[in-house]
Amino acid sequence: MISAMKKLVFAIGAIIFSMQSSVAGAQMEVIVTQLEGKRWQVRFDSASPVPKLYFIANTLDEPSARTNYWEPVDPAFEIVRASGADYIQRKDGVDFDEVEFTVATRFTRSIGSQPSFIPFSDGGVLIHDPSFIVWPEPPETIIGKEVELSFSFYHLDGVERLSGEGQRFSYIGKHKLETLAGHQVLYDTGMSPHLRGMFDKLLPKVIAYFAARLNAEHDDLVFSLSQHDERLDGHAGSKGGVIQNQVFFHFYGEGWRNPEEQDRQWVSMFIAHEMAHVFQDLQKFSALSLGRQQSWLIEGSADAMALLATMDLGYWQESDRSAYLEQAFAECVSAIKQGQLSAEITADNYRAGYDCGLLMHLAIDRALRRESGGAIDLFAIWKEFMEKRPEGVLHDAELYLQLVRGYVPATADFLEKMIKGRIDHPDAFVRNGLAKAGLQISE
Ligand SMILES: [Zn+2]
Repeated sequence: MISAMKKLVFAIGAIIFSMQSSVAGAQMEVIVTQLEGKRWQVRFDSASPVPKLYFIANTLDEPSARTNYWEPVDPAFEIVRASGADYIQRKDGVDFDEVEFTVATRFTRSIGSQPSFIPFSDGGVLIHDPSFIVWPEPPETIIGKEVELSFSFYHLDGVERLSGEGQRFSYIGKHKLETLAGHQVLYDTGMSPHLRGMFDKLLPKVIAYFAARLNAEHDDLVFSLSQHDERLDGHAGSKGGVIQNQVFFHFYGEGWRNPEEQDRQWVSMFIAHEMAHVFQDLQKFSALSLGRQQSWLIEGSADAMALLATMDLGYWQESDRSAYLEQAFAECVSAIKQGQLSAEITADNYRAGYDCGLLMHLAIDRALRRESGGAIDLFAIWKEFMEKRPEGVLHDAELYLQLVRGYVPATADFLEKMIKGRIDHPDAFVRNGLAKAGLQISE
């Protein structure tokens, strides 16, 4: 399986971590080692020879960051992108049991999943462990199976294993966990003091807001906040994620150092969106079970909850909200014009799930409040949804719409048509449907 110390001469440090995965008896080992500069070595060892090794966690980006930035040490190997997943093979098709790559720890803008490396400004890095899991079968064959992972950290100095079992983020660098409102936080000390200040102030308020409305406690969260100044493909932006009890927020590109008014809105929305995911119990689901087909349900509701929170907490004004909704409306309508929303969001336009989903969930919120005289809202329906959702099923859109139908049937019909129906005039259809639910989008 592993030829001891082979090729480790390239490494400057010791092995940082190794990871073993096992499904139905088959076994893999992954060894990640830090090299000189901002380069890493990743080695995969299989218990028996295989023709291909598939990555289980894949982003929607084409080409993927792996095909772009992972360099096989032996040029006989390659990474191929097919059907939304990356796999490793020998170019000559011969079976293999060992392969290694050098990888730059650059942040990659990714859609649908997390980047493998999130750089900190001191040269440290947050590693998204699931992005290193490989398997001899395509990812869809593993869904629903018990995946056992065990991690070994060989070089414990400078490694913060962010708590939680199974899949996780690992931080490798010099920063130490600090405490904020009873939670652990890993701050990139190079990040803008303004961003840190905003996070420190906003986080406890957002947690209290969602806890009160969703009647849930999350008291063992681990946050990481990081920032790097490089603009990626000319872009500056942010990327966040939730895995189990870990939540990360990453800011990249210039523009975050001296945030203007717009960033006050963006940062508060960003933080509230990820925290909505925490309170949706997203962390109960492994990275392997997070489907993408229903992104309107998960991403749209998180955006809607975040917007309700930022409005109620005074971070957004009415004029901010209308402008945001108008933009979401325009994006959503243009996505529906290209095809069915349920199919569209799995293909080229993942954002449509956020844009249309936001409007759909705000429509639900408005209709519920109106019909119940304020007694029931979006949070109430989510509480019920999370109680009734079958174990391990995140995207039960049918159940969700059924619950909505129980209170506001006309709104449920509208949403169902918006997802699955053929819509001749999306602009008028969506605008009128939202208006009937009580959500006006200005022309
Ligand atoms: Zn999200």
